[in-house]
Amino acid sequence: IKSAVVCVLSDSSARNKLLLISFDGFRWDYDRDVHTPHLDAMAVDGVKAQYVTPAFITITSPTHFTLLTGRYIENHGVIHNMWFNTTTQEKKQYYQSQFVDSYWDNGSLPIWITAQRQGLKAGSLHFPGTAATYRGETVEVKEVEPLFYDYSNETDWRLNIDKVIGEWFHQQDLDFVSLYFGEPDLVGHRYGPDSPERREMVEQVDRTVGYIREKARQHGLTDRLNIIMTADHGMTTVLRGGLVNEIILSEIPGFSFKDLQFHLVDYGPTGMLLPKEGKLETVYQALKGGHPHLHVYKKEEMPERLHYSKHPRLLPIILFADPGYVINGFFPLQFNKGEHGFDNQVLDMKPFFRAVGPDFQKNLEVGPFETVHVYALMCHLLEMSPEVNDGSLDYTKHMLVPRSGAEGSHSKEPFHLQFRVSAA
Ligand SMILES: [Zn+2]
Repeated sequence: IKSAVVCVLSDSSARNKLLLISFDGFRWDYDRDVHTPHLDAMAVDGVKAQYVTPAFITITSPTHFTLLTGRYIENHGVIHNMWFNTTTQEKKQYYQSQFVDSYWDNGSLPIWITAQRQGLKAGSLHFPGTAATYRGETVEVKEVEPLFYDYSNETDWRLNIDKVIGEWFHQQDLDFVSLYFGEPDLVGHRYGPDSPERREMVEQVDRTVGYIREKARQHGLTDRLNIIMTADHGMTTVLRGGLVNEIILSEIPGFSFKDLQFHLVDYGPTGMLLPKEGKLETVYQALKGGHPHLHVYKKEEMPERLHYSKHPRLLPIILFADPGYVINGFFPLQFNKGEHGFDNQVLDMKPFFRAVGPDFQKNLEVGPFETVHVYALMCHLLEMSPEVNDGSLDYTKHMLVPRSGAEGSHSKEPFHLQFRVSAA
């Protein structure tokens, strides 16, 4: 009996570790105009997708929570980077919203919590959603960045990698870690996606990829660690300078902010409006067709493919602009050269995707898939049972090497559980 127990334990340790990395705003084609030896090497050693499609709206907290839960945004409920209260008019920006537990703990469990419930050890560094408590539980090993954190500092990036690989994976033997970097999003916003500053930052990302893989090698983890690298959205150039007809809501005939109880505009290419009682039709009719590059929907009429209509937090009127345009309230106040948040069909909104490790094929390029499917892939790699989600392993399983064993392929049942049943 004792030897059988030992057998079960050693078979369960066949599960490989998993590191999920997000480089915020890393567009699918950012490696095309930059020398990226480490990203190229990763593609040769592993899998590269042509691009991936994020959930709509294509902004940071919502799309990261889709990676962590496998749910579309209308189902997980983290509908915006900003938390807001339509009664008190209170708004919290991205950073402060990270600490509003009720905003995140809203029916969908992120993968860390499910992993911990199933006996795995999980960690997260700076990943959106890390600070929150879910059903009374937080990710047990975590680091949340301070308020005025410099998201671009390469020295800090390396210290964070040393911590995740050297301490969390190597010393503390964690099974899963999510790791977030705030670039190249910031340079993309400030200088635009076609700028030399963006290209320099992609070189920094590439050096970082080399550093991560080298650290894993030094700690003997290469054969036991799967690495998935992706992003939350892409970036596109904002059109302005008198060359375009900017979207300014207050200038649209028949529209008045006086008809609104609450609004969320001046936040890139999307907006949401709560009209005052009895004013929905007035506001809707004024804005619909009010600008050739502005899309106006009642929330229940949003295109189904965007999966952004069902959640009660969504306001009755949803606005989004064509690529290159941002939505201004009273006058243009937004000066970013690059923006995201647009329709997820827009090619510039698509992130990159790479994966390498013992469970992934080598030198394989695959077609596009939606990032909503990454969750099912991660649960499969970690041999854990997923929560209810909107994704499927069917979209990514061709990236995996067939496992040796009875069925000769990845089976749904964790191997150690199958063994335990047969041992009993
Ligand atoms: Zn982002």
